[in-house]
Amino acid sequence: MQGVGFRPYICRLAVKHGLFGEVDNRTDGVSVIVQGDLKTVDRFSNDILQNAPPASQIKSIEINETKFPRYNSFRIAASRNIENQITEVSPDIAVCQECLDDMKNDPARIDYPFINCTNCGPRFSIIEALPYDRPMTSMRSFRMCEKCKREYDDILDRRFHAQPVACNSCGPSYHYKTPSLNIASFRKIIEKISAQITSGKTIAVKGLGGYFLMCDALNDDAVKKLRQKKHRDAKPFAVMFRDIAAVRKYCFPDADEEKELVSWRRPVLILRQKEVLAPSVSNGLRTTGAMLPYMPFHYLMFRSLKTPAVVLTSGNISDDPIITDDAEAENHLLPIADSLLSYNRNIINRTDDSVVRFINHKQSIIRRSRGFVPRPVDLKLFSEGILALGAEQKNSFCLGKGFQAIMSQYIGDLKTPATYEFFAETINRFSDLFRFTPASIACDLHPDYLSTQHAERLEKDLNIPLFRIQHHHAHIASCMAELGLDEEVIGISLDGTGFGTDGNAWGGEFMIADLKGFRRITHFENIPMPGGNKAILEPWRMAYSYLYKYFGDSFDYMSIPLFKSIRPDKLAAVRELLVKKINVPLTSGAGRLFDAVSALLGLCPVETFDSEAPMRLESAIVRKIDESYPFTSDVSISFRDTFKAIIEDLPRLKVPDIAAKFHNTVAQVILQSAIKIRTDASLTKIVLSGGVFQNKYLLEKSTDLLKRNKFMVFSNHLVPSNDGGISLGQLIIAAKKIK
Ligand code: ZN
Ligand code: ZN
Ligand code: FE
Repeated sequence: MQGVGFRPYICRLAVKHGLFGEVDNRTDGVSVIVQGDLKTVDRFSNDILQNAPPASQIKSIEINETKFPRYNSFRIAASRNIENQITEVSPDIAVCQECLDDMKNDPARIDYPFINCTNCGPRFSIIEALPYDRPMTSMRSFRMCEKCKREYDDILDRRFHAQPVACNSCGPSYHYKTPSLNIASFRKIIEKISAQITSGKTIAVKGLGGYFLMCDALNDDAVKKLRQKKHRDAKPFAVMFRDIAAVRKYCFPDADEEKELVSWRRPVLILRQKEVLAPSVSNGLRTTGAMLPYMPFHYLMFRSLKTPAVVLTSGNISDDPIITDDAEAENHLLPIADSLLSYNRNIINRTDDSVVRFINHKQSIIRRSRGFVPRPVDLKLFSEGILALGAEQKNSFCLGKGFQAIMSQYIGDLKTPATYEFFAETINRFSDLFRFTPASIACDLHPDYLSTQHAERLEKDLNIPLFRIQHHHAHIASCMAELGLDEEVIGISLDGTGFGTDGNAWGGEFMIADLKGFRRITHFENIPMPGGNKAILEPWRMAYSYLYKYFGDSFDYMSIPLFKSIRPDKLAAVRELLVKKINVPLTSGAGRLFDAVSALLGLCPVETFDSEAPMRLESAIVRKIDESYPFTSDVSISFRDTFKAIIEDLPRLKVPDIAAKFHNTVAQVILQSAIKIRTDASLTKIVLSGGVFQNKYLLEKSTDLLKRNKFMVFSNHLVPSNDGGISLGQLIIAAKKIK
């Protein structure tokens, strides 16, 4: 991969061993030629793995003897742009320890907030075109000073060919603004920020891939104010901690999670809470989204901050994409923040912070952006020329380059006009950057998705084939693509919603699938959604709908605390919809089942953010128990007995235990259905995908049950199991169809 410092590293290593030769980037990897005695060559090749740059990824090393002209130095072969082939770009890399040390010792870079080297610094966020060379990045406008240039040209220097290389006298700089003040001295800026954070103010800060809003994570008034300003009612905020010790004070990171926290990607990790920060940060959820500093600025800031943790949330209004443009930030963020911290280098590619959760001790990506994008996913199938446009909410798209899929960063909900614009722009940006011309398109089956409509326009304009792929088949295939599975599997997709082949909303799907197609074996029972989309926003409607379907008018709804809290006229109106069957689209979505139970337990009658109800239901669990509720399965899976038992439990059992028993029930449904399918079809590989599997308790419980029953269980690790991973599934299915 270009830009992770691998070739300069090889070069320094060769020189250290006194070897001549050359290193070259090729499409199939890096080629190194060294000439010297066998022992030295051996030592050299053994050393390669020892100190490889953090962001490089060595899959294998092959050694061959070869004939070549004599070398009298070691060199890096020039980028061969013309060949049009090397298209890998590194993700952004967190500042490395050596640079942090330089920030204290290198006279030209004392406290310099844009310090970087070949092993660290901005990459994807500053690149406009390939090859990855300074003139192709937003560092173009900064002329290297003599010292920087010397280091840049010195093959033995850690900054050799570090494209964003800079120092205090030649590189980018920060500036700080309030409506009445403008400061350029970095020392004063840090003082100012520290004072502002301490006094509960909100600062808009230009980060690596966009602007962020920041305030003290221990000051509840400050956090509440930030919420109001952002029009974000209750969605948990991500928090940046000073260091790992601070994380450990407030959360319970295990060894795997700590390793990921300090990795060069520095994602936000969803961790179990130990101590509550300001209560409004997580708003009652028992998890904290934690990350560690990744820009030099973050370290410099924490040096003078009193608080060990700051809220750091995307700088946007409501559902718009994170702001990257300086003028836009001044117009939209400065008015809602108390001050604005910016710098004079442009952000080319917008990236949010990535969000990761560890499930079964393995990485499960919830939002894939900074640090992950645009690293490709290796495929078993040739996918050149396929453009897969993804779903609609949590959109990402994906393009096929040979045997690799390059997935875009998290784009967001296309229904927001600014997000749709970001989507269209990014497709063009990726096409330019990766020299991609679509030869075919893949999209969702849903006719109303804006991504589908975009696909239809491209189909017409470019006159190329379009593949429409069922949503849950794509979820299952996204996982198969990651793992290189190309065979029949049992696919279980538990999800919010997706367009089914019968026109209903699906999302509790049990299928036999391969990359060509799928058969729906069974599914969660269809339930009416009173008021259509309103039933998604107001989970109490789903609770009512389930009970009405199963028990009708004979049930005493007022015996349930939830319904006592709902206005009687609203209840009557929902009942009317159900009786007269007006605006009651059917759904088999697992998300709606979780919604209904969450509402029934009084955890979330009305949602203030996407997936709040299931998140609160999972978060309610405090101890592991093994009991579960009954259910029946025939043509479809019915939860009549489940609801009956939950209602009986309501007055006598604590909410956390009912929540756990409910989760266990869904895990049992998965196990029992899987066993049935295995008996009929003799398949043992089972793929679990769909947004519901971001639920750690559910995925761990089901995986455990399935493994104990001798299934081979697979779930997503490289791309999200939610709709953010759909495009990869669409791409691999299209690749198979084309083949
Ligand atoms: Zn560095
Ligand atoms: Zn310089
Ligand atoms: Fe989905």
